Amino acid sequence: MEKKLTFLGIETSCDETAASVVQENSDGTAKVLSNIVSSQIKEHKKFGGVVPEIAARAHVENIDFIIQKALDKSNKKINHIDGIAATAGPGLVVCLNVGYNIGKSLAKFGAKPFLSINHLEGHTLSPGIENKISFPYLVLLVSGGHSQFLIAKGLNNYKQIGTTIDDAVGEAFDKTAKILDLGYPGGPSVERFAKKGKKDSYKLPLPIINKGGCNLSLAGLKTDVLRKSKNITTNQEKYNLAASFQETINKILVKKTEIAMQEFDNEISSNSLKSFVVVGGVAANESIRNNLKKISRKMNFRCIFPSKEFCGDNAAMIAWAGIQRFRKKLFEKENEIVRSRWPLDKDAPFLKGPGLKL
Ligand code: AMP
Ligand code: MG
Repeated sequence: MEKKLTFLGIETSCDETAASVVQENSDGTAKVLSNIVSSQIKEHKKFGGVVPEIAARAHVENIDFIIQKALDKSNKKINHIDGIAATAGPGLVVCLNVGYNIGKSLAKFGAKPFLSINHLEGHTLSPGIENKISFPYLVLLVSGGHSQFLIAKGLNNYKQIGTTIDDAVGEAFDKTAKILDLGYPGGPSVERFAKKGKKDSYKLPLPIINKGGCNLSLAGLKTDVLRKSKNITTNQEKYNLAASFQETINKILVKKTEIAMQEFDNEISSNSLKSFVVVGGVAANESIRNNLKKISRKMNFRCIFPSKEFCGDNAAMIAWAGIQRFRKKLFEKENEIVRSRWPLDKDAPFLKGPGLKL
């Protein structure tokens, strides 16, 4: 292999200010030389969710420091960096602009290549940092804003086979935590309190479980958690409801993953080992990891999760996507701007809104 490329990645699509220096390895994986993530949990805690203007201001205040820290930790100076990759969407436009513009300016003044990265592609490629995975593979992307099943056929070539028709899985965790007053951010606190509860104490709905292929629906589940929470009088009941919610999410994800695996088998005829990667913030959840490993064994898939530091939003995945796109000469247009909506599969139907028929 020719020279190993080293990229700086920048991520500011939501409430994490992140920068990372990543170097490619000769075996197709990557070495993360630094991975700095500054979370804005404190800023948003009192609002129980992300406030875009507050998030954008925090990015502006932190981004230069975070980039410097990523360079220092990697023992690289900016002139050792071969290219810069920044998230250009989807996300909050006021937030995206901060990381994108500083990345573009650094690249311009340093005469380095600049790559605009789709945040969802960053997540989708993230397991390849630590694992040798070849296309095609099946992806479950579960985060605060997105829940999708995709067939990753190649770089820049993704087919969406399922998505949520209402709430994202991470959003359902966050809303449940808010309803039960378990603290912010929601996912990790629901997981923590669910350990103290009995997972079969409440019977909750499994929306569209037997229809709609591997599409997901979670709004009805959240509404039922809200309804049942009104009768709660003790902490134990609260933990039981958290545990039952998490168990219901597991049942939904296992069933829909099984369907997605069948669809993958129908679409891709392959004799080689099939891979299933689970990415995004929710992929950090231990009970979900265990259940998805079980269904993967049953369906004959190798199940791969990124390390937890690469599950939530991070810039290592952005730098890594940048290196791979640069190698394949997949550049976005020079005058491209940031975007709030940017689906990985532009032909996928938009499955939201009233009157939806599945
Ligand atoms: P991301 O959008 O990829 O940054 O992921 C953030 C989302 O992941 C939020 O909705 C979190 O509540 C959720 N999340 C993070 N950790 C966990 C966990 N351990 N269990 C469930 N959800 C989680
Ligand atoms: Mg994300």
